[in-house]
Amino acid sequence: MDRISRIQNIIRWQELYQERKIIVATYEGSEQKLLKLKEDYDLAQSNKTKLTEFSTSLSEKITQEEARLDHILTQIDNMEKDRDNLKMSRQIKSWEKDMDKYSQDRAVIEAQFYYDKSKMGDITQEIENIEINLATYTAEISELEQEINSIKSKTKKERESIEAGIDAISTEFDTHFVEYFDRLLAKNKGIVMAEIEDDSCSGCNILLPTSYHGGDTIQDVDDSALLQCPNCFRYLYYTEDL
Ligand SMILES: [Zn+2]
Repeated sequence: MDRISRIQNIIRWQELYQERKIIVATYEGSEQKLLKLKEDYDLAQSNKTKLTEFSTSLSEKITQEEARLDHILTQIDNMEKDRDNLKMSRQIKSWEKDMDKYSQDRAVIEAQFYYDKSKMGDITQEIENIEINLATYTAEISELEQEINSIKSKTKKERESIEAGIDAISTEFDTHFVEYFDRLLAKNKGIVMAEIEDDSCSGCNILLPTSYHGGDTIQDVDDSALLQCPNCFRYLYYTEDL
């Protein structure tokens, strides 16, 4: 491929890239929004899993505390029934001592039990809130997916033809160049060609080195070589080249 064909090809490539960019712009924002929503959904889902696991273990703890509390209350109840049967002061003292201990235990377990019960209520509420959020995310995700698919299907033919065009041009160049050119397009927002005007690069306006000056010099360059601006790396061409 001679230099002129190469220049024409990459100008066409750049045009196709820009056409694709315009189409992608019609759904790019929605795709980013969708990605964010999916992240939010996953995060909420993972929080729900953690809270559910925690609530399961807390629920077991509460059951145990309740059983211990029941046990102590029964003990206290039985002791109170015994109280009137005690006659000797030694027995009464021992009874009072035991009763003190049971009362203290009861206070400790009761405090823990009601604390955990209230915590359980908070967690249950939190899980319910997360479930509401998850339902909202699911609805929003599905709506956005439909919207994106509808936009994409409208531009399907056009996008396919652009891809085919780019593929066809790419095969004319070696893979290193294709990779490099793709990166350059992405980096320079699809504008990688610049006309030489008054010995300057029209892309960044830098005055080009003298070796770049004059159409004749360029024509002398090897067919396969394309001139690049040393400052902005855009490919250079003269209008008269085309
Ligand atoms: Zn430049």
